[in-house]
Amino acid sequence: MTGQTQIMSRRIRTRLRVEGIVQGVGFRPFLYGLATGLDLAGLVGNDVAGVFAEVEGDPAAIECFLQALRTQAPPLARIERITASPMPAQGATGFRIVASPPGGERRTPISADAATCDDCLAELFDPADRRYGYPFVNCVNCGPRFTIIKDLPYDREFTTMAAFTMCQSCAAEYHDPADRRFHAQPTCCPACGPSLWFTASPSTGTVSPVLAAAELLLGGGILAVKGLGGYHLAGDATSEAAAARLRARKHREAKPFAVMAASVAEADKFLEIDQAAESLLTSRARPIVLLPARSRSAIAPAVAPGNSRLGVMLPYTPLHHLLLRAVARPIILTSGNLPDEPIAYTDDEALDRLAGIADAFLGHDRAIHVRTDDSVLRPFRGRPVMIRRARGYAPEPLQVPVTFGRPVLACGAELKSTFCLAKADRAILSHHLGDLENVATLASFTAGIEHFTKLFDISPQVIAHDLHPEYLSTKYALGLAERDPALRLAGVQHHHAHIASCLADNGFAAGDVIGVAFDGTGYGPDGTIWGGEFLTGGLAAMERAGHLEPVPMPGGAAAIRHPWRMAAAYLDAAFPCGVPDLAVRRRHADRWDAVTALARRAVNAPLTSSAGRLFDAVAAIVGVRDSVSYEGQAAIELEQLAAAGCHGRYQVQVRDGDLLVLPGADLVRAVVEDLTAGTDREVIAARFHLTLADLITATCVTLREATGLGTVAMSGGVFQNQLLLELAVTGLEAAAFTVLTHSRVPCNDGGISLGQAVIAAVT
Ligand code: ZN
Ligand code: ZN
Ligand code: FE
Repeated sequence: MTGQTQIMSRRIRTRLRVEGIVQGVGFRPFLYGLATGLDLAGLVGNDVAGVFAEVEGDPAAIECFLQALRTQAPPLARIERITASPMPAQGATGFRIVASPPGGERRTPISADAATCDDCLAELFDPADRRYGYPFVNCVNCGPRFTIIKDLPYDREFTTMAAFTMCQSCAAEYHDPADRRFHAQPTCCPACGPSLWFTASPSTGTVSPVLAAAELLLGGGILAVKGLGGYHLAGDATSEAAAARLRARKHREAKPFAVMAASVAEADKFLEIDQAAESLLTSRARPIVLLPARSRSAIAPAVAPGNSRLGVMLPYTPLHHLLLRAVARPIILTSGNLPDEPIAYTDDEALDRLAGIADAFLGHDRAIHVRTDDSVLRPFRGRPVMIRRARGYAPEPLQVPVTFGRPVLACGAELKSTFCLAKADRAILSHHLGDLENVATLASFTAGIEHFTKLFDISPQVIAHDLHPEYLSTKYALGLAERDPALRLAGVQHHHAHIASCLADNGFAAGDVIGVAFDGTGYGPDGTIWGGEFLTGGLAAMERAGHLEPVPMPGGAAAIRHPWRMAAAYLDAAFPCGVPDLAVRRRHADRWDAVTALARRAVNAPLTSSAGRLFDAVAAIVGVRDSVSYEGQAAIELEQLAAAGCHGRYQVQVRDGDLLVLPGADLVRAVVEDLTAGTDREVIAARFHLTLADLITATCVTLREATGLGTVAMSGGVFQNQLLLELAVTGLEAAAFTVLTHSRVPCNDGGISLGQAVIAAVT
């Protein structure tokens, strides 16, 4: 008894500051519940820097409180920092949620959009609930965020939900600290919130919009359906006719469609799903996950023709849940656009642009403020690998291993465009925007930069950009500097940016590495197009230490669209005394000599050391394909051709010199000799991958002997090739290297802006 009296008499008060994503995610009610449960007095509130709180009571209880703060935080919260400092006890009783003080510097990051939580899902399918079947149910733990926020602070009036006034029941929940919807800005119900509409001709009468849409899908029709970040096009994924119809109308020849399945169990019927894949699929971000397809399944072949992998996602809005339940089968869910265009995200835009594709529209009157694509990932060695970073991830800040002394805007590259804004210890990488050569995408790029600078209150003083003078992102950067001479420009070489993004992705800032940057195209300071590069150095500076042997690209951009042209260039280099009579040559006999002459004359045939072009050449030579309808198609198909578990390598040696040279032409000659010897194409494809991976390891070993560097960072879009990545990592690790690969940020050009930003921070 005396002991207890002693503890009771010892009251302390602690002031707390919590930073990170702590607003609009139920943090104050969480603290309120925690404090009252532990019999602590005090207060909690939001301000521009995050959450502030004061707790008073028994020291042991405060200790418990601090521990629970870290371990039991609400699902959407991301705590970056907690600072606690003692203050005099005030003999306070009760715990209060206090009003937010106005003004100050905005430092609170906003949450990404999150998939419908289990509690909301239970309400959605509970006939007794007032939100039964309501496609906009959400709460503080789930729902739209980034895509509906127009400005900060994160209050309803600054979101696209401003148009809807809460009814009494919703308002009561909103103001109740014990409720899951306390300060849930987008909360609503059938009485006060958005509503669904369905349009089709002929009109389907009085059926509910979801049932009408489901009926259309089951009849093989194409549906445009509004998601979180834009419109999707949907069709029955088990119907070859529906998939073919969508392909024809969308003018999308071969690029795989993503599929939405109702659950992991449903997806498991047509995909191989392991633990890592399951946790990605069910994560709150609900990305598209690329997984190996089962050979015999109900999925129509036209969904992903010639592809052994399939992109799948689970429902992430209440509308998806309702629709999937109504159709009771997997559906194609692909972005609502035509090739090279960004997805349609306003209703008018969708009704206009998708009119020739969709038979009907399922939409609603909650506006989307920021156009945002689905994110795409795949697991690699149990770790998620980001391929397209957008919905569910952006705009949450990335922890990076540098401090930004001056605020930076990095403008990225050209394809798979992103930008990056950085200040102090935060780097905010934008969502995937697309190809800047498209006018609408360029508009999203400039509007996005303005939106982000306002939202995150960052006024850049340094503008980082690619060295390519023709990239629209470079022109944008130069334009900014022209208008404001106080801005510092930081030009960053493309492959240096790739390696820096890999280092930042891995939190690596300590010292120098060997960087292996394999991609399609990047501006080289020597006037050639780089893309098969070995660099040595660190964030501040890197030097070219080796590369693929350059070959001409006959016809420039035409050689990218038509891999057989790269085959002609490589074969001419590999067989200077006469190219053997190969099938690829016979297929293009009418233009072969002209294209070879173009390559030799070096007119409209820039030299390139691109690894992507080497893949293209080999793909055409072994007969995988001569022309592509989407970026990387030939390389993807060559990778899938490579027979698993095949052994054997070609005798190809790295050439020594000032710079190490990987002889691509020698590799092509070995491929041709194997082909003429009658070896199976699958085996040749595998040997090509094995040899290239060996060449990477051999080059790194030689560079280690010269420099002592023992860490290899691998980046560039070519490493989306899972087989090459696996073989190279295995080879490098066997040679005792520490290997860094991408996880949070794409290895393709979507990661370039982050690389540029961290380089600008240290130079
Ligand atoms: Zn919820
Ligand atoms: Zn309501
Ligand atoms: Fe690149």
